[in-house]
Amino acid sequence: MGFRMANVAGRAALVDGDNYYDIESTSAGAIPSDPMEALTMATEMADLQAMLNDREATGRVADATLDAPVPRPRNCFGIGLNYADHAAESAMEPPKNPLVFTKFPSCIVGPTADVEMRSDGVDYEVELVVVIGVGGKDIAKEDAWNRIVGLTVGQDISDRPMQFSATPPHFDLGKSFDTFGPIGPYLVSPELVADPSNLRLSTKINDEVRQDGTTSQLIFDVPALVSYISHITTLTTGDLIFTGTPDGVGVSQGKLLQHGDVITSEIEDIGTMTNRCVRISDYATP
Ligand code: ZN
Repeated sequence: MGFRMANVAGRAALVDGDNYYDIESTSAGAIPSDPMEALTMATEMADLQAMLNDREATGRVADATLDAPVPRPRNCFGIGLNYADHAAESAMEPPKNPLVFTKFPSCIVGPTADVEMRSDGVDYEVELVVVIGVGGKDIAKEDAWNRIVGLTVGQDISDRPMQFSATPPHFDLGKSFDTFGPIGPYLVSPELVADPSNLRLSTKINDEVRQDGTTSQLIFDVPALVSYISHITTLTTGDLIFTGTPDGVGVSQGKLLQHGDVITSEIEDIGTMTNRCVRISDYATP
């Protein structure tokens, strides 16, 4: 069971091997093409995925341009300093409670989108991104995985000068520039992931491995985060949680992103995304 969903030019598709299958046409209209609506029909998508052998593929993934599998989340949360090694390299104490901030949903882009940088202080952070399916309020940790429709790869791109331009730092502004939330390439339902609590995740910049960790190192694990946030705000279908990044970010190595760099972000069992960095105009100073 389970499914692997992509967003092909705005239309939900299921992925099997090298091929994709348009969800609306393959399901004869039973599942809508809007990826946000399709997310409410996880059972139907899993049933359809199981029947793909009998269907004709719409096209090859390699020939398609993929958009964000969750293109319009209502809310998008990030978790700061959620790996001990990353807290240490940032010269910060590991948090006693989850450090939650907002990535404006408008920063979300697809797995091949350009990252548009407005300073020379932009950084990468590969993260496991959790996508809420059946949301709700006051979700118990034991129930959290039942509320997750899928997992995807994310980059929590961060403009460090903006992040630290105020005291205390404003994580939200520094991490919410347009294009600062690439996600993809697919949304993979948890059933298709062998062990979601122990997934290897990495960042390469051009050919150099900069980050290489596993989600088993999370200080606050996925159930704890879902439960904690749901006691504050009602979670809804398509809400995203960027769960934190392992060590190896650029600012701690003096290796911030430069025009033309290619960021390759990979999580085992989920996929790989590739985003190019483009240095555009500076931002305004107040
Ligand atoms: Zn982050």
